[in-house]
Amino acid sequence: MAFLDRTARGLLLTELLSGMWLTLRYMFKPAVTLNYPFEKGPLGPRFRGEHALRRYATGEERCIACKLCEAICPAQAITIEAEPRDDGSRRTTRYDIDMTKCIYCGFCQEACPVDAIVEGPNFEYAAETREELFYNKDKLLANGDRWESEIAGNLTLDAPYR
Ligand code: SF4
Ligand code: SF4
Repeated sequence: MAFLDRTARGLLLTELLSGMWLTLRYMFKPAVTLNYPFEKGPLGPRFRGEHALRRYATGEERCIACKLCEAICPAQAITIEAEPRDDGSRRTTRYDIDMTKCIYCGFCQEACPVDAIVEGPNFEYAAETREELFYNKDKLLANGDRWESEIAGNLTLDAPYR
């Protein structure tokens, strides 16, 4: 019986026709897909993307080398070295994140008392080599400069929930 049923459906092309009918029905409806990378979907303000180190509006680095982010990182992906400057302030001389270890938990961002290290909105940072994912301070500061307006906006939106 099942054989006859399959044969009849094959001869009458019912599955093909029902597939074509489905296509026809959706042809005139608004597209639900996005033409990525030319179109992108919305991201929440808490989206945890590529890391960035931020500066104040004066250009001074926010990071005060307290090392809380390094201490809290469960993946031990952050390495910081610090020295006092001539003016007595303490700043990092080295700030590395091994992005191949990072699990994007966001603990570093949560721990930072001055909103210096953040996970920004950028998710397009795929690399061809492992070495490209060893971020240093220059790379992280450059990320901060590039994404500052979006990051600052997201932190403002998220502020009531922090
Ligand atoms: S997001 Fe989590 S795993 Fe990644 S560097 Fe920050 S604390 Fe470490
Ligand atoms: S990024 Fe923030 S938590 Fe990490 S060392 Fe700098 S000030 Fe401290």
